[in-house]
Amino acid sequence: MKALAASAFKAIPGKSYATPKELWGFRSERGRGTPRSIAWQFLEANREHLGITSALDRLDLRRVIHGLGADHVIYQQIWRRRRIHRAYVTVHIGRDRRVYLVKSRAVPEDILGKTHEPTLPQRRAVRLAVAAVGHVRGSVRVVGRPELLVHRTRPRAEVIVYVHAITGRIISRVDNLAEATGKATVFLPNPMARAYGFAPLGPNGRVQRPPENAYVAVTLTGLRGKRRLDGRRVTTQLTRPRVSSPRLDFVMPSTQAGFEEVSSYYHVNEAIAYLERLGYRGGRSIFAEPIRVNALGTRDDNSWYSPGERTLTFGTGDIDDAEDGETVLHEFGHALQDAICPDFGQTPEAAAMGEGFGDYLAASFFAAKKPDAYRDTVMSWDGARGDGTPPGVRRLDCALTYESFDHGANADEHDNGQIWSATLWDIWNALTRRVADRIIIDSHFQLDGFTSFARGARAILDADRNLHGGHHAARLRRIFRRRGIGPVE
Ligand SMILES: [Zn+2]
Repeated sequence: MKALAASAFKAIPGKSYATPKELWGFRSERGRGTPRSIAWQFLEANREHLGITSALDRLDLRRVIHGLGADHVIYQQIWRRRRIHRAYVTVHIGRDRRVYLVKSRAVPEDILGKTHEPTLPQRRAVRLAVAAVGHVRGSVRVVGRPELLVHRTRPRAEVIVYVHAITGRIISRVDNLAEATGKATVFLPNPMARAYGFAPLGPNGRVQRPPENAYVAVTLTGLRGKRRLDGRRVTTQLTRPRVSSPRLDFVMPSTQAGFEEVSSYYHVNEAIAYLERLGYRGGRSIFAEPIRVNALGTRDDNSWYSPGERTLTFGTGDIDDAEDGETVLHEFGHALQDAICPDFGQTPEAAAMGEGFGDYLAASFFAAKKPDAYRDTVMSWDGARGDGTPPGVRRLDCALTYESFDHGANADEHDNGQIWSATLWDIWNALTRRVADRIIIDSHFQLDGFTSFARGARAILDADRNLHGGHHAARLRRIFRRRGIGPVE
């Protein structure tokens, strides 16, 4: 291949060096052989134009990628066996085997000759990079030479830090994860949990506006959308109207349209992230795709999970359901059961277990965030008009046993569910949160949609045997016996 005539192409001058960073507006001679060999013929013929004189042999072939209309050959410049940051040379070849574009970030030979050998020990570079990221949790992985590090932290982030190999100065720091994080304020799980003195109902029976100290500032993680609440674990795409923010800043009071959507995104995302921390990740992930949420799905004071559509819908009657973290978690509980065990709840007992599990999950998830007085109650904001102190939709500490199960035609599965939630809550109090959550969630994998309290209890014993060698069996049996559930074995 012959060199291009000087008048045959246009050149974009480089900013850092005297060499051009791009030649375009030409068609080379037709090349021979593979894209790789055509690219090489072209570079050899045009090295003077590109200013990559004797350094050609220091170009390392990285990739050849094939588009529909062209092939693209990508080289990385190497210096003393190290790759030079961003020093790529790419050659672009049309279907007619003619090169039509070449880009070069190669560092010219004379500049390379002035470089110094790194003196900073690798361990020290790692320490400096970790300090620069500012998180101590997570792990550090060195992916290149000491000058290039990737640092993972929780909340998940991948930060690429460049450390000067002689002075140790931090040259740059970039979060390279495709996921974004947003900002928001939510109730955790209800306004009273933070604003202790706040009474949800005024003297006239009207719902009061939560004070500023009722909100908790949180981070929205797992976002894939650039402006909207579309994430890896959950998307609010069914909500109308939708909120959007170019900077993913969703801080707003509960009176503003959009708060319900933000709240439901946050709580569902956190719930699935918690499942991941329990071990349900990778090949054990429970949800194959993001859960779709309609945060403003009905004007009724009602919310539901649709097993047919696999969607969560929250209502706006009275207090908006999605504002209460525990209402979100209760509904999410149905989604979780359905994902493990499709069409859960087709008998009165199974339906009651579904309701009881949702209440249990909500209570377990937020117990550490609430004042003691609220621990045994769920949905205190959604159920602000409810009886009891504190108010709430339901409690988990009823004294009922299986004897009280209402088998009548008009029985309410939520009422019956309180026997099951109280049983699960006994387990939670006896075994602590993480152990109880893992055993109870894992027990669902052997259940079916028509299950019963007795089989559910046996499944919990089996899960304990599978996870802990039956370490908690005696305590679990005692709990089931006291609740009149069984015989279990
Ligand atoms: Zn329910």
